[in-house]
Order: sequence, then structure tokens, then C-alpha cells
Amino acid sequence: MMFPFFDWTMILILPAFALALWAQFKVKGTYRKFSDVRSRLNMTGEQVARRILDQNGLHDVAVEPIEGELTDHYHPGDRKVRLSEGIFGSTSLSALAVAAHEVGHAIQHKVGYAPMSWRASLVPVANIGSMAAMPLFFIGLFVPTISWLMDLGIIFFGAAVLFHLVTLPVEFDASSRAVSILGNGSFLAPDEVDGAKKVLNAAAWTYVAAATMSLLQMLRLIILRNSRE
Ligand SMILES: [Zn+2]
Repeated sequence: MMFPFFDWTMILILPAFALALWAQFKVKGTYRKFSDVRSRLNMTGEQVARRILDQNGLHDVAVEPIEGELTDHYHPGDRKVRLSEGIFGSTSLSALAVAAHEVGHAIQHKVGYAPMSWRASLVPVANIGSMAAMPLFFIGLFVPTISWLMDLGIIFFGAAVLFHLVTLPVEFDASSRAVSILGNGSFLAPDEVDGAKKVLNAAAWTYVAAATMSLLQMLRLIILRNSRE
């Protein structure tokens, strides 16, 4: 028996690992490239977020700054759009793309977009699942009398996989809302919309990579489990 983290099934994870690295590289590169391109609109991320929120009747959703890079998010509990330093006060295409995307989440919340509420209810399950899955699985793998722990580990891991899968429509939908709002005539010119779209597409790849990684991890656990029987 080899050390469990370095058995042959690790090979399964490698393509997903490569995809995740590539996606990180791509999102940072695209984000930085379009951070240097100022929009002709000359409004900041904050101002654009505020205007789109108001246009959608979301006057009570606040826009506030948050530290870090790419830490931007919409918090449904606090009903706040939080924009990172490089987005909040910037007039770049990256800033407007990210700001509109986060407001896209606030609009999803308002219209009761179903995958968003599925995702929210999966958060606690997925957190517990991703913490407990591996310890349970490997205890079951090494102690034959309680090998059923492997199955329990796989079920727990399944909750995390489900979370990553449900995240995909939520993120894609927020980006497509952002692109159609930015391109509706009152914000960006068509050539600028292309730039914004590139930033959001690059970001979408990081979610695809995370979902692929979790699916292949799960496959790996199932193969390891079956090789024990
Ligand atoms: Zn998002």
C-alpha cells in the first residue's frame, strides 16, 4: 500500500490541476490587461453598481469597498455589494465588468433565481462535507472493519461536488446579466463590451476548473474504494 495521497489515481487529478492553474493565470492576466483600459463612460465601479441597482429598484442594497484583489462579492444576508479596491474607484473595463457581475447576483436574489437559493442552502452542507470527507474516507480505507466510512466520506464529498456544480449556473447567469446590462446602450460601446466579456469569461473558467477538480476527486475516491473490495 502506497501513501494514499500519492497512489496512481492522483493522475486523474492532474488535468484538473493544470486547468485550475491555467484559469488562475488567465483570470489575473485578463483582469490586469483590462484594468488599464478606461471606459469612455468615465464612471467608477461603485457608480455603475449604484446606477444598475437603482435601475432595478434595489435602492436599499448598499455598495461598499472591501480590501484585497478579486475579493468582490454580493452578500445576500447583508444585502451589500462589496467591491475590491481596484474595482470600487476605478473607471476601467475590468472594474465595470466585475461591478456589473456582482450587481447581477443582487438581481438574481431579487428575482428569486432558483440556483442561487439552492447554492445558499448548500453552503453549510458543503462546508461540513469538504472538511469531513477526506478524514472519514481514509480512516475507512485503512481500517477494514469500518470500511463503510469510505462510503460516508464519498457521500460527504458529494455535497461539496454538488455545491461546485450549482455554482456554475449562478456565475454564468450573473455574467450574462452583466454583459447585457453593460451593452444595453447606456453604459459601454460594443468594443468595450467585448473587453468586459473577456474579463468575465476568464473568471468563469476558475469556476469550471473548481467543479472539474471536485468531480475528478470524487471519481478518484470511488476508484480507491472499489479497489479495496
Ligand atoms: Zn459571481
